[in-house]
Amino acid sequence: MNLHRKPLPVSEAVDRVMMDKKEGRVETVPLENSDRRRLAEDMIATHAVPPFNKSPYDGFALRAEDTRHLSRENPGHFRVTETIGAGQLASHPVEKGEAVRIMTGAEIPAGADCVAMFEICQTYDDQGTSYMTLKRSMDQDQNIIGKGSETEEGTVLVEAGTRINPGVKALLATFGYPEVKVYQKPKIGVFATGTELLDVDEPLQPGKIRNSNAPMILSQIERAGAEGHFLGKLVDDFDACFEAVSRSLHDYDFLITTGGVSVGDYDLMPDIYEKLGARVLFNKVAMRPGSVTTVAELDGQLLYGLSGNPSACYVGFELFTYPIIQRLLGNFKPYHTRIKATLGEDFPKPNPFTRFVRGKIHYEEGRVMVSPAGMDKSNVVTSLAHTDAFLVLPGGTRGFEKGDAVEAILLEDQGGQKYFEEG
Ligand code: AMP
Ligand code: MG
Repeated sequence: MNLHRKPLPVSEAVDRVMMDKKEGRVETVPLENSDRRRLAEDMIATHAVPPFNKSPYDGFALRAEDTRHLSRENPGHFRVTETIGAGQLASHPVEKGEAVRIMTGAEIPAGADCVAMFEICQTYDDQGTSYMTLKRSMDQDQNIIGKGSETEEGTVLVEAGTRINPGVKALLATFGYPEVKVYQKPKIGVFATGTELLDVDEPLQPGKIRNSNAPMILSQIERAGAEGHFLGKLVDDFDACFEAVSRSLHDYDFLITTGGVSVGDYDLMPDIYEKLGARVLFNKVAMRPGSVTTVAELDGQLLYGLSGNPSACYVGFELFTYPIIQRLLGNFKPYHTRIKATLGEDFPKPNPFTRFVRGKIHYEEGRVMVSPAGMDKSNVVTSLAHTDAFLVLPGGTRGFEKGDAVEAILLEDQGGQKYFEEG
């Protein structure tokens, strides 16, 4: 095995992964189960919106020409012929001198071409007939939401690749899509390697630790919108690992293993990739943590060898697995959002390589700050619970100070500032 690995810049490592993979598959899902999925086809208006002229107010529908010379001194009196609510249709066209009592959302009756809101009308009864009085003139089309005024039939409303959110769902419902074509969730198999690993429900034993990486990665997969499958723990035995990996390889879009990619005596993954005949895209990245992150390709499948160190494993996933999941999910902007932020604490230790510090976003006097989420070591697990961003510190010879301009990669929204400050 070659112990002298050449570190690849992070951006190049990401490019190698992204260049390698195909497009996502498409499936049809019921509207109610489509949240957070991405449209696999453009969504086209199947009809005009609104589909008929409708009233935006509760009021009276009438003919504008009947109101032409009305004023406070010269009010008009209209015979109210009927009342229609939303979903009801008038039984007769509106004739000269008539008005229809109409509610918000109801179709404007034939003959009528404006709506006078209740607020400007008075009503009275005379010998069993209802009348409405109006003291001002109305314009044609006044207070009418015209058919097609929002969108015409055939308009592209949202494009393929758009993530289905409450607004997109409203559109799908509006245009009568009980089901929708979306990109399939990639299926990802996860193995945890290490003879030291215990299951979550096992008591601690001397020299052993619980497997935290598998639940963590499965949760990262879930957060990324894909489907994770835990395939089990593997002891550090070459044949057992080789057999398990080669058996599962073709059932998943990717296979992730954690542990065993370093240069220790029991780090078996490099030899397993070699025996499988996989093409190694990279096995050392110029970054901290996670420099041993390895990605290999075999028959169009990607094999992710993430570090066993929890923080390194976490970072490796978000940098190299997350964007390819997004690609397969139909996201044309597959990377996490990167923002400019202000460093919230000193970080005196210089790094030879780009460092992805597990960080948290906070606000100070309206400024977006990012601070380390806890201990910054690749083997640390506790800081991960507070992490909602990576604080990106470029490699170099100096440390960083509170107040320095830095970049942060956002992993999830942990809430922000109050919408408005009073006073
Ligand atoms: P490795 O990459 O296999 O050399 O593991 C590096 C460190 O991460 C060791 O201290 C392991 O015990 C620890 N480790 C490996 N796998 C896991 C896991 N699934 N969960 C928690 N820690 C792990
Ligand atoms: Mg190990």
